[in-house]
Amino acid sequence: MTTRAREILQTVFGFSDFRGEQEAIVEHVAQGNDALVLMPTGGGKSLCYQVPALLRDGCAVVVSPLIALMQDQVEALRQLGVRAAYLNSTLDAGAATQIEQALLRGELDLLYVAPERLLTPYFLSLLERSRIALFAIDEAHCVSQWGHDFRREYRELTILHERWPGIPRIALTATADPPTQREIAERLQLEEARRFVSSFDRPNIRYNVVQKDNGSRQLRDFIATHVGESGIVYCLSRKKVEKTAEALVGLGVTALPYHAGLDAGIRAQNQRRFLREDGVVMVATIAFGMGIDKPDVRFVAHMDLPKSIEGYYQETGRAGRDGEPAEAWLCHGLGDVVLLKQMIENSEAGEERKRLERRKLDSLVGYCETMRCRRQVLLANFGEDYPRPCGNCDNCLQPAETWDATVAAQKALSCVYRSGQRFGAMHLIDILRGVDNERVRQFGHDRLSTFGVGQDLDVRAWRGVFRQLVGSGLLEVDAEGFGGLRLAEASRAVLRGEHPVMLRKELPRKPERERNART
Ligand code: ADP
Ligand code: ZN
Repeated sequence: MTTRAREILQTVFGFSDFRGEQEAIVEHVAQGNDALVLMPTGGGKSLCYQVPALLRDGCAVVVSPLIALMQDQVEALRQLGVRAAYLNSTLDAGAATQIEQALLRGELDLLYVAPERLLTPYFLSLLERSRIALFAIDEAHCVSQWGHDFRREYRELTILHERWPGIPRIALTATADPPTQREIAERLQLEEARRFVSSFDRPNIRYNVVQKDNGSRQLRDFIATHVGESGIVYCLSRKKVEKTAEALVGLGVTALPYHAGLDAGIRAQNQRRFLREDGVVMVATIAFGMGIDKPDVRFVAHMDLPKSIEGYYQETGRAGRDGEPAEAWLCHGLGDVVLLKQMIENSEAGEERKRLERRKLDSLVGYCETMRCRRQVLLANFGEDYPRPCGNCDNCLQPAETWDATVAAQKALSCVYRSGQRFGAMHLIDILRGVDNERVRQFGHDRLSTFGVGQDLDVRAWRGVFRQLVGSGLLEVDAEGFGGLRLAEASRAVLRGEHPVMLRKELPRKPERERNART
């Protein structure tokens, strides 16, 4: 078996060796067993079902939610001489019929189908009359209602197991925090399937989080360290995508916008240019990226906080698929945390869902604020224990310096308390710094005992203090109201002087250029 698999790998796909778990997975599935495959983006999931598809009799049916990805894969397979086809809504009736006939005649090795198509009685009856090699369920996390890619139809895919109990199934995903893993196994009736969990570490990606000061200037400085390289810049809103792309173009960068509000033709064109040309920077909302396979993306920058660590990991995972050094850069500020918290509270979601989203956001903020190795924190989130500091993240390369911020924290917390626990950081900083402006006077905050007690720190330093107090849970964001800050239970001990507070010193870091210089 192994030798035949290897032969196919070499003669059909032109690769000399399997990577990581691929060989074990191929063998397991080719022998007719079920598998649940958890592998990071770029890890090489496709071969895990493509090789068994060629080893086994009949046609492999691949369920995929992504039309664009289907077309790319089929095109690539056909170029290798593999008999592959897809069925989705982009085909006209005539073309679809031809493919169905080919399936019935046993002339296909792989058939990619959208889930809603697969589940039609018509298609299922077609399958009854065909010879099926295996079922592959790609992007299996779509079955999880807690992920952002939830697809209702994925829940019904258990029908494959019920109707064809003897045909092996392989489910694959790159999203694999332990709860999602369990949910996939349960929802797809794959509890008995062997699990293949690859390490999620992407050693060539350097993680880097900067504290937001002036986002667009910081982005400019960052991009200046990646001149002429392909990259993706993620922004939260469509408007910001447009603005950021324009600003980059003004600096001479080949930047293109991508978001769901753009005309489909323009979107497709921008995507094509990003894939085919060198050195294009795609400025996008998270609408961009799923299924994009461009090996030489050298950086992924986040101008705003992503919603969760899983999202962040997927998005940054698009960098460095070729294994060469790549950088994941994130610009993190308190304003984003407040905004995202408000988005959660104001959404239509039920209480259970909101609780989950709050928790996910808190883990992400924890990642941003950590002084530990970021890779360790990131991987711990996927249930993986990375044994030592990685040496390839900002915290490893430039360990954070801390300072005793107990007194500053007490001033900040008491200022929050005395002004009524409903103001945002900027106003609180004005009070602490003794700024005599309209708003401060209007609320009589110039008469508070904390007015002007914080002149020893500048605005930037105070912003860092407030952000870190929120990050460490000493302050809470009133996300149901106007995003003001209020004391958390834990802050009482600080105010009483029972609990020292150590914070990260936020000196401007050394310019990126210096640290990245390649010899
Ligand atoms: P995933 O679906 O896990 O994101 P892909 O299946 O698209 O990953 O594979 C990512 C890239 O790695 C592709 O360009 C693929 O051709 C390449 N690749 C996969 N397996 C191997 C291998 N054994 N040897 C060399 N390249 C491989
Ligand atoms: Zn590290």
